[in-house]
Amino acid sequence: MGEFRQNFATKEWVIIAPERAKRPRHVSGQQPASAPVPSYRTECPFCPGNEPETGREVLRYGDTFSWNVRVVQNKFSALDPIRSTQRQQQGLFLKSDNFGDGEVVIESPIHNATIPTLARESMVNVLRAYRERAIEISSTPNISIVMIFRNHGPGAGTSLEHPHSQIIASPIIPPHVRDPFQKAALHYDSFGTCVYCDVLQEELRQKERIIYENEHFVVFCPFASRTPYEIRIYPRRHMANFTWTDNAELAAFADALQTVTRSMNDVLGDPSYNYIIRSSPTGDEDVRYLHWYFVLIPKITTPAGFEIGSGVYINPSSPEVCAAQLREAAGT
Ligand SMILES: [Zn+2]
Ligand SMILES: [Zn+2]
Repeated sequence: MGEFRQNFATKEWVIIAPERAKRPRHVSGQQPASAPVPSYRTECPFCPGNEPETGREVLRYGDTFSWNVRVVQNKFSALDPIRSTQRQQQGLFLKSDNFGDGEVVIESPIHNATIPTLARESMVNVLRAYRERAIEISSTPNISIVMIFRNHGPGAGTSLEHPHSQIIASPIIPPHVRDPFQKAALHYDSFGTCVYCDVLQEELRQKERIIYENEHFVVFCPFASRTPYEIRIYPRRHMANFTWTDNAELAAFADALQTVTRSMNDVLGDPSYNYIIRSSPTGDEDVRYLHWYFVLIPKITTPAGFEIGSGVYINPSSPEVCAAQLREAAGT
């Protein structure tokens, strides 16, 4: 039978109900086969030769027309760096201009590259670009949080096939993001420890949800996974902000990320997914109660009325079983 489990860091609850997978419309995991993606598309704005079609370039590794990674302004960003941060009152209600920044990290010149198939050096370059841009954007006045994320596949809300991630910087920290920070601060006030360091130690002690480990990172399915095959990567070293990650750690992060996405594709067949780097707000880069981490959610279930209404996710799979499958595929 199913059970409630609490996410120890955010204090949110999920329902683990593997028997629901036996229902007729269950999660099979395997995605339908689609036509192979070519390595180059003439009409793709991110493919080499079409550089003038992108937004303004803010970072490039490599030469103008022979580059490895480019970071460009997102032409279609919902946020605008030249608008005001001033909050305004409209009667009882509060509003503000859409100040902020949106950038696109074009991860490779190769149109059909994916995270698991990128050369290791290219993967490290992508992570270096994340770090370099996050440091730069964090120094912008009035920016409160920098979010790095990647949408992959039609089920994850991406409009472009070419391998890319996004960086969004906002002057507002929404409650969904702020709430776990406050929970972590309360935990620190109670116990004098970082809740994420505590969770990491407990996952290592219980072992059964660990997928992969290297010198600097631990990859696991969390105890209170909200969705099947939810993947977390935690740095072993306590760091509140991603920008503190040093070069040796970036290389180990690339190893962890490529290993687990390769395993995921072996088990699930290139599913759509979203990944996010969760990191402290700007100005709180060195607090003792926050710990940056990576989360990947394969898009193989859709939240329904119960989840939306109650905020409690029903996970039709067991995190222990998902982790065992991914661990086996990783060969560890
Ligand atoms: Zn392309
Ligand atoms: Zn920590």
